[in-house]
Amino acid sequence: MGPEVQRRKSHFCSVCQRVVKMDMLRKGPVDDVTWLKCPDCEGIVPVLSAAIKELMGMKEEVPGTVMKNECPEYEMSGNYDVGQIFYHKIWDDYGMVLQKGKESQKGRAIMVSFLRGGLKKIVENYQSLDT
Ligand SMILES: [Zn+2]
Repeated sequence: MGPEVQRRKSHFCSVCQRVVKMDMLRKGPVDDVTWLKCPDCEGIVPVLSAAIKELMGMKEEVPGTVMKNECPEYEMSGNYDVGQIFYHKIWDDYGMVLQKGKESQKGRAIMVSFLRGGLKKIVENYQSLDT
């Protein structure tokens, strides 16, 4: 058995205002987000590759440390911005919106990178047609 993989990474924490040795919660592939957690403030930190930033159309502005209790709860009828992080209650997971698709009659598909679940396509602005 080899040595344990190093699951820590030094990264700037925008809450603690300094570089912290963070725990790597999920190491994403090149086209996905890597998620860190600051052990001091307990905030989660999405780290975006150049490919992801390009996909999102983001240049400099990246979300820094995000406190879990400040994330809005995901609702199918909600509307989210690219770069926004929300909490998905049913999956007990946090996700960041990477891309928004076209609006259809029943809502809009959004590509979300989840902390635990990875990339998933879900729906926002969902309109129930039951009424
Ligand atoms: Zn911190």
